[in-house]
Amino acid sequence: MVHQTPKLSKLIYRKRNNCLKVAQSRLYPYACFICDKLGHNGLDLCNACLQNLHSNQHSCLTCDIELASTNVTCARCLKTTPYFDKIISLYRYERHSAVLIQSLKFQAKHSAAKMMGTFMAAEFKFLETKPDALIAAPLHAKRLRARV
Ligand SMILES: [Zn+2]
Ligand SMILES: [Zn+2]
Repeated sequence: MVHQTPKLSKLIYRKRNNCLKVAQSRLYPYACFICDKLGHNGLDLCNACLQNLHSNQHSCLTCDIELASTNVTCARCLKTTPYFDKIISLYRYERHSAVLIQSLKFQAKHSAAKMMGTFMAAEFKFLETKPDALIAAPLHAKRLRARV
């Protein structure tokens, strides 16, 4: 019986995963969700479309809705204190980001969730305070049946 150290197991696991990723990318090349061109950096998104995902320039400090000026709280959050502390959105909901979200919601393209999760994880590295929880908006079974 051969015992592997945890470090060696991790190394073997990573090497095997890298080989699988290379094989997968050759057999099934990553294709951009938005324009169908070849994906970039192991994502189903090309570099041009990635560059077209834009964050809010100025947004409410609480709900992250886009505003004309920075470091302010929107009128709705001032009028009624929200039940959450803060919302952080990665991208403005516009053409390219809408395609990603709609690919997941309406076409059940679950790799869009992986990609968005990857983007969120990269963004969270820069947060001073980590979120207590990430909550996916639940989907009613009736709506899911209608969408799939
Ligand atoms: Zn593209
Ligand atoms: Zn607000």
